[in-house]
Amino acid sequence: MSIALEQLIQWRREFHRFPEIGWAEFWTTSRIADYLEEMGFDILMGDKIINPEFVRGRQQAVVETGLAKAIAYGAKAKWLEQMKGYTGCVAVFDTGKPGKTVALRFDIDCVNVSETTHPEHIPNQCDFASLNDGFMHACGHDAHITIGLGTAKWLAENKDKLRGKIKLVFQPAEEGVRGAAAIAASGIIDDADYFASSHISFCADTGTVISNPKNFLSTTKIDIRYQGKPAHAGAAPHLGRNALLAAAHTVTQLHAIARHGDGMTRINVGVLNAGEGRNVIPATAQLQLEVRGENKAINEYMVAQVMQIAKGIAIGFEVNYETEIMGEAVDMVNDEELVQLVEKIALQQADIKQVNADYAFNASEDATILGRRVQEQGGKAIYFILGADRTAGHHQAEFDFDETQLLTGVNIYTALLQHLLV
Ligand SMILES: [Zn+2]
Repeated sequence: MSIALEQLIQWRREFHRFPEIGWAEFWTTSRIADYLEEMGFDILMGDKIINPEFVRGRQQAVVETGLAKAIAYGAKAKWLEQMKGYTGCVAVFDTGKPGKTVALRFDIDCVNVSETTHPEHIPNQCDFASLNDGFMHACGHDAHITIGLGTAKWLAENKDKLRGKIKLVFQPAEEGVRGAAAIAASGIIDDADYFASSHISFCADTGTVISNPKNFLSTTKIDIRYQGKPAHAGAAPHLGRNALLAAAHTVTQLHAIARHGDGMTRINVGVLNAGEGRNVIPATAQLQLEVRGENKAINEYMVAQVMQIAKGIAIGFEVNYETEIMGEAVDMVNDEELVQLVEKIALQQADIKQVNADYAFNASEDATILGRRVQEQGGKAIYFILGADRTAGHHQAEFDFDETQLLTGVNIYTALLQHLLV
């Protein structure tokens, strides 16, 4: 094993310095591709790995601003051309010997957080704080990119040790659970016998691995837009079609969806924007909402109810409407074979003192879409948590993590490959 921690730290700091938001990771993808190309990988991008029909929550203005900044920061034209507007890439490594196929997924996007200027924050002390104002790797996905590159480097140097094929998936837009559906629908991991992904830190400290997090919530993020007709509110209100009123009724009806007898559900309308002026019948309204469910079927019930209500309200108020799915994730149950294997491997790492099998995740993560896709084709999947001490909670301006765990992450993934692909 020849990956040095110093190399991993250098990569992590390089990516930390220029964080990019989901669907705008043009420089990040370009840089990952530079490294992978140097290591000798075949790299797939654009519609080879993204099915545009399933792209969720990609806003053209964000993409265009991000692209301009990425070009200014040095994203390479040759990679941008291959991306065709869609970020992320997949490195394929074929050992040339018959065997199984393993897909590993690393997410690459940042969050909308402005990094603290506090002088004791290590990225400030060591001069690698975000140069992209308003954006920060405050969830640790810079660690995930780095662990992916470290695993790639090990593969390039140890190809004789394995059989079969490895696909390293560098996924865009995990935040808001927006990126995985398009990658899954491209079919790029449909031949995988095994799938693994993980998150750094989260709730676990250095020295701990959580091998079997449970309670991933299925969720769908939905926008509803109503288009009515403006009119003079005094002289001719009867000629208007009131989109604001339609939206207001939608909110109360959505919150009145009957609970599901088979398990937990959630709904939240988080944003309602409507209207233009005090004396005008409001002609436009937009709602941003999310539903969650204990499992995929219950979540799908919630989505169907939302769609039905939006349609019914539109008819009742004589307004036009459109709905758009902005993000989605499903629940996933780890396969026992992989849970056992990750536990065994984790305990062989010098700095892992403890493996906890059970932990209630109680949140959503779109790696589950990829994991379930592999499971549905007869493969096996796992999502685990790699502990790392942190200076603040995820998505906070003071967030930073224990970089020594980057090497532990690489060691766990490469050991996993050595067990699965011999
Ligand atoms: Zn995250």
